[in-house]
Amino acid sequence: MNIGRSLLLWASKNEWMKSNVPKFKFVRRAVKKFMPGEDVKDAIDAARKLSGKNIPTTFTYLGENITNLSEAENVKEHYLHLLDRINEENLDVEISLKLTQLGFDISFDKTLEFFEQIARKAADYNNNVFIDIEDSSYVDKTIEFYRKIKEKNDNVGLCLQAYLYRTMKDIEEMLQIKPWIRLVKGAYNEPETVAFKNKKDVDKNFYKLSEYLLEQTKEKGLRVAYATHDTALHERIKAAAEQKGLSKNQLEFQMLYGIKTNEQYKLAEAGYNIRVLISYGNAWYPWYMRRLAERPANVLFVLKNIFRK
Ligand SMILES: Cc1cc2nc3c(=O)[nH]c(=O)nc-3n(C[C@H](O)[C@H](O)[C@H](O)COP(=O)(O)OP(=O)(O)OC[C@H]3O[C@@H](n4cnc5c(N)ncnc54)[C@H](O)[C@@H]3O)c2cc1C
Repeated sequence: MNIGRSLLLWASKNEWMKSNVPKFKFVRRAVKKFMPGEDVKDAIDAARKLSGKNIPTTFTYLGENITNLSEAENVKEHYLHLLDRINEENLDVEISLKLTQLGFDISFDKTLEFFEQIARKAADYNNNVFIDIEDSSYVDKTIEFYRKIKEKNDNVGLCLQAYLYRTMKDIEEMLQIKPWIRLVKGAYNEPETVAFKNKKDVDKNFYKLSEYLLEQTKEKGLRVAYATHDTALHERIKAAAEQKGLSKNQLEFQMLYGIKTNEQYKLAEAGYNIRVLISYGNAWYPWYMRRLAERPANVLFVLKNIFRK
């Protein structure tokens, strides 16, 4: 792993930096590249614009690793209101959240209770919820959680990471519950005992998993979202889908707000499903550091903002 990436991922967990870095105006300005603003209204405005280009969205209210259940309850309330708001706006906006934001570090059962309320409300509005996947220490517990949720809630999907060696087995073992999967490369600093460290190996595994998942879409109608900005992978996945006889609208890509926006437009214009994830909220520090780590050249962009008024 390159040193820049390791350093930025270390900084994403550093408590001093977490409370001080967001105070710098130039950092706040730079964050705008990846999020339209801190309020729901900012996210809605951005969603409306993308909707005009035939691009539906997913909202994430930023936050993770909360330390008491009353905070988790507030997060749950936030998402319940958000679902009302999305419905009022009549926009195609799904939601995606981190279990540690709903109290996963404190109580599995309480998190389940909170999550089920969110999933049920989403179902009432004919809407869907995705579970973000966090670092590898959470994967077993998150899959167990997802199995439980799927017993009663069909409208829930799970994110899985191609950098983990275990992911193919996890997918195979989950097939009987008809999972919805969002496949990503993976954003955390993982040891080589559990994850590929070399980008080439991660990309190779992403494609291998994609081929397998395309087959599952064909045979079982599985919903799969290929969530990457890697256009070489997009091309390979599109070609493999066509070869398997899947139509464009059976293929779904997902990307993050502010990254390769033109590519997002092109996919929509070409008739592929493309959904863009929009993050908002004031707890953006660790999430933003992971975005910088994905492309350490982004740090230059942050520094350039020092000189802007
Ligand atoms: C919809 C969605 C949901 C996600 N959810 C999760 C999750 O729940 N858990 C998790 O671990 N990870 C999640 N991720 C992040 C993911 O794991 C990767 O870290 C991230 O997508 C970057 O990898 P990539 O697939 O785009 O490929 P890369 O090979 O990293 O990037 C391909 C190209 O995309 C561009 N690019 C990528 N990242 C950036 C960036 N930050 N800034 C500017 N350009 C960039 C660059 O041009 C780069 O060359 C999510 C990503 C998406 C799109």
